[in-house]
Amino acid sequence: MKLYNTMSKRKEEFVPLEEGKVKMYVCGPTVYNYIHIGNARPMIVFDTVRRYFEYKGYDVNYVSNFTDVDDKIIKKANEEGVSADEISKRYIAECKKDMQGMNVKPATKSPLATEEIGGMVELVQALVEKGFAYEKNGTVYYRTRKFAEYGKLSHKNLDDLRSGNRSLLVSGADEKEDALDFVLWKPKKEGEPAWESPWGEGRPGWHIECSEMSKKYLGEQIDIHAGGEDLIFPHHENEIAQSEAANGKEFSKYWMHNAFLNIDNKKMSKSLGNFFTVREISEKYDLQVLRFFMLSAHYRSPLNFSAELMDAAKNGLERIVTAAQNLRFLKETAKAGRMSGEETEAFAKTRGFVDMFEKAMEDDFNTADAVAAVFELVKYANTTANGESSREYVQKLYELLARLTDVLGIIVEQKEEILDAEIEGLIAKRQAARKERDFARADEIRAELLEKGIVLEDTREGVKWKKA
Ligand code: AMP
Ligand code: ZN
Repeated sequence: MKLYNTMSKRKEEFVPLEEGKVKMYVCGPTVYNYIHIGNARPMIVFDTVRRYFEYKGYDVNYVSNFTDVDDKIIKKANEEGVSADEISKRYIAECKKDMQGMNVKPATKSPLATEEIGGMVELVQALVEKGFAYEKNGTVYYRTRKFAEYGKLSHKNLDDLRSGNRSLLVSGADEKEDALDFVLWKPKKEGEPAWESPWGEGRPGWHIECSEMSKKYLGEQIDIHAGGEDLIFPHHENEIAQSEAANGKEFSKYWMHNAFLNIDNKKMSKSLGNFFTVREISEKYDLQVLRFFMLSAHYRSPLNFSAELMDAAKNGLERIVTAAQNLRFLKETAKAGRMSGEETEAFAKTRGFVDMFEKAMEDDFNTADAVAAVFELVKYANTTANGESSREYVQKLYELLARLTDVLGIIVEQKEEILDAEIEGLIAKRQAARKERDFARADEIRAELLEKGIVLEDTREGVKWKKA
């Protein structure tokens, strides 16, 4: 399997640190608003990378954080007159709903920066002790020049960077030793959230958060570190400087970055105001369409958002889902029984589509070509499965289609309809549990029903239910 490593600027063969395992960290969003569809791109892309590794039998430890302490969160909290915590909790919950709609698997762990401050303080301390950091008036800075390999990810030269920052040095307004030094810890300002530290009350800089959370949940060395391409510099460059100086080891073997989602060929961003939130899009389209649209391009190519492309994605997705529906229908009506010799041969030919799919994914996750392979399979299923087919043949085609689309995170399986009798049965069981004062079990049954879209209402006349 080959993937493009931003560090070496070429496609490299993937060799895991530990056989059969992938340790992967994806920088998550700063939660001060609904996520926009640009933020959705890394979520969908790297979830698909994860799914492909899992399809190949790897055990993937996937960590993706929420940055829940930040100037923008504090600003929003002040505007609304609520706490920063309330803002971040609200938008984490909303973000998780959007992710579910886009069928992004929950991370193995999604740490919150504010719950990991102790570890960050220790990491900054270690850097101070090793001479890679220094404190001035309650602020701790990273001594960039001391890290000889600084710039290796973004392929920037220290001297070029320095001349770009000369104005700062000349003005002398900065207390830093060098214009390139960046903040690891900043002192508290009035009305801002703050934590205790050896340098006084304050809060961590953004870059140290990821170095710490990655180390805590994945260890000092990981396989893949990922995010949008705007994170290469300075965020990931600084993470490398921090982690490698503190741990004395290569931080991540592979660095993956997605290109931007653009609108009118300009980067979609909150600051430019030219964005759509995932929530807005969900009012017009099923979020599966958004996912399918994102996967129609290679993740390292810029992608321009437009209604035409979304409609094309909608049509394409419909073709796949309709084929799956047909197969399900045929399965019900087909002759019970095994495949004929002819069908066995016909099914063997589907190996070609699987090979095409895998070849595309193994070439730096070329999802556009992988989608083309799925369309080939759909065409083949539409032309070879019919009312005369055996149940086994139809079943096998369906399973194959569901397996490949699942790697892309596209759902073709029908949600199981719950029957009224089943609902009544569960309600009776819940009543029995309550009678025995086993309220935990009763609550479990209520939750189970809710998951199936059934809401219970306890009334004087007994339990009533309705579809949510
Ligand atoms: P942020 O909340 O700004 O830190 O962004 C969260 C993630 O979304 C990061 O990986 C960014 O690189 C990524 N991102 C932000 N805007 C876009 C965009 N327009 N296209 C693709 N990725 C983006
Ligand atoms: Zn990060």
